[in-house]
Amino acid sequence: MPDLEKMLGGRLAWLAARRKRSKEEVILLLMCSLSIPSILPFGIYRLLQGSWISAAVDLALVGAMLAVIVHVLRTGRYKAASLGVTLFYSAGMLATIHLRGLSLVYWVYPTMIAAYFMLRPAVALAINSVSMLVLVAILLRELELLNLFTVVVTISLVNLFAYIFSHRTGLQNQELHTEVERDFLTGVGNRRALDRKLEAYAGERRPHLESSLLLLDLDHFKQVNDQHGHATGDQVLVRLCQLMRNHTRSSDRIFRYGGEEFAIIATGAGLSAASRLAEGLRAAVAAEPLIEGHPITVSIGVAGMDKAGKPADWLMRADKMLYAAKQAGRNAVRVDSLAPPVENTEQV
Ligand code: GH3
Ligand code: MG
Ligand code: MG
Repeated sequence: MPDLEKMLGGRLAWLAARRKRSKEEVILLLMCSLSIPSILPFGIYRLLQGSWISAAVDLALVGAMLAVIVHVLRTGRYKAASLGVTLFYSAGMLATIHLRGLSLVYWVYPTMIAAYFMLRPAVALAINSVSMLVLVAILLRELELLNLFTVVVTISLVNLFAYIFSHRTGLQNQELHTEVERDFLTGVGNRRALDRKLEAYAGERRPHLESSLLLLDLDHFKQVNDQHGHATGDQVLVRLCQLMRNHTRSSDRIFRYGGEEFAIIATGAGLSAASRLAEGLRAAVAAEPLIEGHPITVSIGVAGMDKAGKPADWLMRADKMLYAAKQAGRNAVRVDSLAPPVENTEQV
């Protein structure tokens, strides 16, 4: 018994894998799973009737859906499969109408709406437009003009509504996503955004650019709050972010890592370029009167995002360097040992 479990466990491990599936994968799996019980009875019925070609079309659709389900469960890859399923659905629907006639024209509507669930709205619209042209060619001889016109208008309206709905939902999702990853005070990315970005970089199979991570902490910030109040402290954070935006490239990403700690992913910057960036930032903050009569400085730790390491390693190394910069007297930059430290002239 344990042997059997081991054997099955090995073979079915991919099925039980507890990876969280994306919503696109779930939609595709759901579509395919629902299509099988919807189409299979018709396939069997036509097989019993001896309508071999129609039965073959239905059963081919069922087989394809099964293959897609297995493929997506195993690999998690859904993009090509979604396109394949939509094309297959559309071709199957047109073939069925061509073979069995007008009575099956109602299948057009669910098939076309399904495309908007699986693909980007513009792609779904393009495929459905081509399908409609083929359908018109098929129905031209069967329907009188007014009825054909009704079919075309109803299909166009269904597509128009589905397109608008799908497009708006996409925009809303995008806005929601941006809000969820934005720091409400400063407008830069929040900790969640940083984690996602670092994970994405670590997951890239072949990152074409070497990048670096900067951790930046305001020096003696408690004193700012104590002497000038929390609201002024907040203003300093907002102004600091503005200053960081002005001193980084548009490809660099800024995040609020914690209360008055920030992280910058310097995209495409090796350690020496990143240490120059950090030194420039340090000097710019020290030179900028972020609040009247109270010099503000920052300490910065820099580490490379090497592919051998993981996000936690990069953060830990940058944090160690930040600690070293604080130990060195603050208003300082320290760079991970792989590159020579940048000479820091000012000390608090
Ligand atoms: P150090 O140089 O060692 O970093 O000294 P510090 O005073 O900055 O020490 P620490 O980093 O421990 O203190 C952070 C302070 O930042 C404490 C907290 O009151 C303040 N802070 C954290 N988040 C915010 C915020 O959102 N707004 C304001 N105004 N202050 C904040
Ligand atoms: Mg601090
Ligand atoms: Mg701090």
